Amino acid sequence: MRRYLLLFVDGVGLAEASDANPLALVPMPALVAATGGALTAERVGGGDGWRLAALDATLGVPGLPQSATGQTALFTGRNAPEILGRHVPALPGPRLAALLAESSVLRRAAQGDRRVTFANPFSARYFEEVAARRRRHSATTLAALAAGAPMRDLDDLAAGRAVAWDVTRESFREHAPESDVIAAEAAGRHLAEVAREHDLTLWETFMTDLAGHRRRGWTAAEALGRLDGLLGGLLAACGDDLTILLASDHGNLEEASHPRHTRNPVPLLAIGPDAPAFAGLGRLDEVAPRLLERLGLDPG
Ligand SMILES: [Zn+2]
Repeated sequence: MRRYLLLFVDGVGLAEASDANPLALVPMPALVAATGGALTAERVGGGDGWRLAALDATLGVPGLPQSATGQTALFTGRNAPEILGRHVPALPGPRLAALLAESSVLRRAAQGDRRVTFANPFSARYFEEVAARRRRHSATTLAALAAGAPMRDLDDLAAGRAVAWDVTRESFREHAPESDVIAAEAAGRHLAEVAREHDLTLWETFMTDLAGHRRRGWTAAEALGRLDGLLGGLLAACGDDLTILLASDHGNLEEASHPRHTRNPVPLLAIGPDAPAFAGLGRLDEVAPRLLERLGLDPG
C-alpha cells in the first residue's frame, strides 16, 4: 500500500520566475535537489520522481480566491466557492464546516479504513477557546475531527510526534515555554515518522500566507527557508513508498509587489513513487478525488 502526505501550504501561487517572485529568489536547496529548480510557473510538467501541476483556484467565481472556500475545495473536491456563490476568507462558517465534516478526503479515507492523521499539534487553550466560542476551527481541524483522527497536543510536539505550523516551534513558546526550538530539518524528520504510520497524513502551515500579507513579522525568506528545511529533513527520512503532495489554496506569496491574494493558479507538487498519477490536474477541486482514487477508494 502506498502512503501519502499532503503538505498544505497556505497562500502560495504559481507565477513566472521574476525579481518580484520570492519563490524564484529565496534559496530552496532541498526543493532544487528533489525537482531540479524553483516552484515557478515555467516548471509545470515534471521529471524523475516529481510532477508539478498548475491548479485553477478561482473555480469560475469572480474575485480573489480565499482560504475558507479554497481549503474546502482542496480537501473535499467540491466547488466550495461556487456552492457559496463567492470566495469566503479565513475560517469556515456552518455551510463549509458541514461540507468538510461530511466529505473531506480525511473523513472518506477513514471510512474506507485507511489510517489518517493530522500532524499539527494544538494547545489545550486552543480547544478551550473554541469551546467558549472565542475562536473557530480551521478547515483542516474540522476535517480531522470529523474523520475521527486523534488530535495531537503539546506533549506530542515535545516528543517529536507532531510538527508545528511554523516548523521550528517558536510560536509555541507562549503556550509551552519549556518547548525547545528545533531545526526545520528535524521537524521534517518528525513528519516523516508520523507519515510512516499512516496511509494519509495532513500537515498545514500558514506562515507563507502571513508572509504574503506581511503580517506578524513574517518574511518570504523566513517562511520559504523553513519550508525548504522541513522538506529536506522529510525527503531524507521518508523512505521510498511515501508520495508527498504540496498544495495551496490561493495565490499570495508569489507576488511580492503587494500584500494581497492573487488569481494565479496554485501548485500541486507531487514528489515520490506515485507522482505521475497527479500530473496534469487543472483545478483545486480535482486533488481530493484523485487522492481517494489512488488510495483505492471511490473518488465520487
Ligand atoms: Zn490570506
